[in-house]
Amino acid sequence: MADYDAIIIGSGSGGMAAATALARAGKRVVVFEQHYLIGGYSQTFELEGFRFSPGVHYVGELGEGGNLRRIYEGLGVADDLVFFELNPDGFEHVIVGDERFDIPRGIEPFRARLKQRFPSEAAGIDGYLDTVDRMARELEWATPERLRDKLWMIARMPTTLRYGLMSLSRFLDQFTQAPLLRAILSIQAGDHGLGPSRAPAVVHAGLQSYYMNGGCYPRGGAGSIPDAFARQIRAHRGEVHVRSEVVRVLVEEGRAIGVELSDGAQVRADVVVSNVDPSMLWSRLVAPRHVSSRLRRRVRHLRYSVATISLFLATSMDLRAAGLDSGNVWYNHTTDIDAPYRLGEQPEFSNIDELPGLFLNISTLKDPTMRSDGLHTAEAFALASWDAFSRWQDSDPNHRPAAYEAKKAYIREKMLDTLERIVPGLRDHIVFSSVATPLTNERYLKVTRGSIYGPENSLRNAGPFRFPIKTEIDGLFQCGSSTLAPGIHGVTRSGLAAAAAALGCPDYELLNASGQSVRIYPAEDPSSWPPELRPHTPDSPDALTG
Ligand SMILES: Cc1cc2nc3c(=O)[nH]c(=O)nc-3n(C[C@H](O)[C@H](O)[C@H](O)COP(=O)(O)OP(=O)(O)OC[C@H]3O[C@@H](n4cnc5c(N)ncnc54)[C@H](O)[C@@H]3O)c2cc1C
Repeated sequence: MADYDAIIIGSGSGGMAAATALARAGKRVVVFEQHYLIGGYSQTFELEGFRFSPGVHYVGELGEGGNLRRIYEGLGVADDLVFFELNPDGFEHVIVGDERFDIPRGIEPFRARLKQRFPSEAAGIDGYLDTVDRMARELEWATPERLRDKLWMIARMPTTLRYGLMSLSRFLDQFTQAPLLRAILSIQAGDHGLGPSRAPAVVHAGLQSYYMNGGCYPRGGAGSIPDAFARQIRAHRGEVHVRSEVVRVLVEEGRAIGVELSDGAQVRADVVVSNVDPSMLWSRLVAPRHVSSRLRRRVRHLRYSVATISLFLATSMDLRAAGLDSGNVWYNHTTDIDAPYRLGEQPEFSNIDELPGLFLNISTLKDPTMRSDGLHTAEAFALASWDAFSRWQDSDPNHRPAAYEAKKAYIREKMLDTLERIVPGLRDHIVFSSVATPLTNERYLKVTRGSIYGPENSLRNAGPFRFPIKTEIDGLFQCGSSTLAPGIHGVTRSGLAAAAAALGCPDYELLNASGQSVRIYPAEDPSSWPPELRPHTPDSPDALTG
């Protein structure tokens, strides 16, 4: 007899959404997470009293009518979530060399600001934004099944068929040659992980539209999202176990019947949902004899998206006074937006004069309630390849060789050099810092080659070629960044879709919690927050009562 109705392998946003939907549908659910924290890339971890969220810096689709909002409300987690909206006048601060451009919320304000800055490019700006918008509208109706139907595509996706399969660079060629304008329009490539010369225009258009109405940051950091899911799972008699690594998916007569954990325990269930990446699932967890040769070949040749080097830091500097706010900072040394991605493919990370690009997130300006001691926490990311670090992959993670530690020290200095361009004087006010490499991503999350978005978002893995929710093994389903789309919205949708496929119902039937509402407050305007969120001042009644 089965121990549970459903086992979920991995507690990323995708896995937790699947578990919540199944638990709410009355299924006995258990989530097994190998790490000591839940959330995968949506986790928040603490180092020396400072909290960092490596994989969520903004999410979209949370406004009225937004799809992610609908899912959080329908799955009953919305009441546990509070978001801060990033500065609507500049939720993306683009710095290219000495030039700066702030991307505002909304397609029309963005259009107007671009035209003001590049008046001679007005026609190209209209052409680009209108085409992106048309592609995004066409994508709304696209499902992997529909995308396999050529006639449907021809009838319903004319703009995507005409432009979407081009590289982003070629797509931009249709509208403008102005280097800075092209850089601004492609800077968000960091959100899908392919530079303009390799990114399919349709992938970039989908992503750019997703963030066109701005972005929000979860109060308390990314970890508040899996925490909200875990509360809902437990409220419906489900279980979430950390330090529980799945080492095998048990398959009998072509059907998944459970999993084996690293301590040898076997746990049985009617349904298994995998939230791990395809290499982990199909090369390590499912025995080769159960996997078709076609799938094995695909996984063997699968290219993964970029990996990162990360600098987690805390500073005593007043970052608001230094000109920063809740908006993301995208820095590129020149207008060559491909340069950081080329570095991300280099087999060595050395002899670098200047980092070509860097992303900066200041959590304490996005969630100003995070700390009350005046210190700020921030996360900075640049791209680097797995190969540049793979020589140390078999070393003891708690005692890496001196050469690895020296490489981390080198990375820290390079990242601080670049951060100094954005925030002069920062280096002298660092109170804590820690560097992570692609090996760190692999160590804590078991992601192949330290990849940040799962399989590379090239045409080869796009649309109908993404990994399917329902796998070739009965009772085994997949969710997460290899399936519908990477990013919090994509993986959350995939978890819901996996639960719906397992239950044999449409996904909207699982969104049945009522009366819930995601709360969103402007990060830049504390006066509009409810009293319990406002900062305590020494003479406020709250502070007196502690
Ligand atoms: C630097 C960075 C910045 C990002 N910024 C954003 C952003 O601003 N906005 C956004 O929307 N997205 C962002 N993303 C992407 C987003 O974080 C991911 O797409 C998403 O969180 C992936 O979710 P997932 O469901 O695929 O699972 P993952 O987060 O990959 O989690 C999978 C889980 O499975 C567990 N696991 C693996 N193997 C096993 C096993 N054998 N047994 C048990 N458990 C196992 C892992 O430990 C992990 O917890 C960012 C990612 C990175 C890395």
